[in-house]
Amino acid sequence: MLLEHLTLAAAERDEKALTRRRRTAYSACAPQQAVSDACGGEMHSLLTFCSNDYLGLANHPALIAAMAEGARQFGAGSGASHLVSGHSLAHHRLEGELAAWFAPNIPHAAALYFSTGYMANMAVLTALGSADATLFCEALNHASLIDGARLARAEVRRYAHRNMAELEGLLVASTSPLKLIVTDSVFSMDGDFAPLAELLALAERHDAWIILDDAHGFGVLGEQGHGVLEHLALTSPRFIYIGTLGKAAGVAGAFVAAHETIIDHLVNTARQYIYTTASPPAVAHALSASLALIAGDEGRQRRAQLDKLIHTLRSGLAGLTRAAGWRLGESSTAIQPVIVGDNVAALALSAALEADGIRVGAIRPPTVPVGTARLRITLSASHTVADVERLLASLASVVPRKEAS
Ligand SMILES: *Cc1c(COP(=O)(O)O)cnc(C)c1O
Repeated sequence: MLLEHLTLAAAERDEKALTRRRRTAYSACAPQQAVSDACGGEMHSLLTFCSNDYLGLANHPALIAAMAEGARQFGAGSGASHLVSGHSLAHHRLEGELAAWFAPNIPHAAALYFSTGYMANMAVLTALGSADATLFCEALNHASLIDGARLARAEVRRYAHRNMAELEGLLVASTSPLKLIVTDSVFSMDGDFAPLAELLALAERHDAWIILDDAHGFGVLGEQGHGVLEHLALTSPRFIYIGTLGKAAGVAGAFVAAHETIIDHLVNTARQYIYTTASPPAVAHALSASLALIAGDEGRQRRAQLDKLIHTLRSGLAGLTRAAGWRLGESSTAIQPVIVGDNVAALALSAALEADGIRVGAIRPPTVPVGTARLRITLSASHTVADVERLLASLASVVPRKEAS
């Protein structure tokens, strides 16, 4: 019965071009990466534009060395959860460094390290979203924020993408004693920004807090790479900031930076923190090395390179997408979506690029709204301008030109 049911569901997925298949990587995360084809068969080396390794640190020699050194010093595993015996000096040091990074933007900031961003988001929303709270959630929030809101006991209100008038209406109408606005800073499938200065003004006017997921901003935005708050020079105790460490930081995990009283509450009540084994200390040790790179000259150079690549790509895509009748997202970040619309068309485009040695993911519902299937191009500082030019040339060769009328 179960198997028949699932086989039917799989057939339906196939019919709608929604089946997902994993590819196996045979080499480290890098622009040129060896992967198996979708059926797990033959291996190809592809020029890849779909990782979130925005600064190109995932395969950086200094981080590999730090991970090895961390393992030598602290072992392979942590052995227990943080509150039992798994909290190591490596975790503790990392949290101290992150707290110092956020001190200018969040008064009395403390930081708490989590194994993944998914868990950090679930933890914040469930630990703070008590029964008397209301969560005001942006429509395009990441799946982990959506799941956190589902699990929280709080009432959940949703506002349309970047629609501050609608959000204000909801805040005005709310009688909840604890109002929590929940948003991505940079939207993961679109690359555009939440209007953060306006959000903060609303939060101040209506005594609300802002749970801010900066997964795609941390490391990349700001003079020192501290993320969107540094970038926009915003300071407020109302920010409950979540940064992930598996994207620009190149390793794994995530952290929450917020007023120390909030962090203390998470340590004591967040089930996603308490009831799971602490991640390997070596990972935290490597992350401290990553923070040093991000804030230093090398980080600055890598961010400048990324900006140059974003500019080159967007200039080239503007004409191309117009000719093809596609839509280029309003994005100034490393996430550049080319919205094609149809699932089959997006998959065909991705396959045509692959035949030319280039890997770009086709993103389909339910990850994005129905009718907005897209190529999601992501850039890394380890790409060269020549890599981007090769992508543009390849896209130009597969563009379905609209008939001249
Ligand atoms: C990737 C991502 C997460 C999840 O982080 P992981 O560390 O990969 O679990 C959360 N929020 C956003 C916006 C993301 O893009």
